[in-house]
Amino acid sequence: MARKHPVFSYENCVSCGICAQACPVSCLAMTNIRKQGKYKKPCPEMAEDTCIGCSICAKECPMDVITMVEDAVS
Ligand code: SF4
Ligand code: SF4
Repeated sequence: MARKHPVFSYENCVSCGICAQACPVSCLAMTNIRKQGKYKKPCPEMAEDTCIGCSICAKECPMDVITMVEDAVS
């Protein structure tokens, strides 16, 4: 069965933590992220083993940082 997982566009993240609070299985942790030396701020990091692909984080994010993508079929 196809499953989805969230992908994050961290450059637009405002570190509000709404996604982490909304996740029903608590698989998002706010962690300091540095990418290409451009920014360092708390952003959500996902525990892949725990995510159930429910899309709630993507719906709740006020900045449209989160996009749900289909998992690759192995
Ligand atoms: S898709 Fe659902 S389970 Fe996965 S990180 Fe988002 S809120 Fe959590
Ligand atoms: S809800 Fe969106 S803007 Fe807020 S911390 Fe999560 S990804 Fe960043």
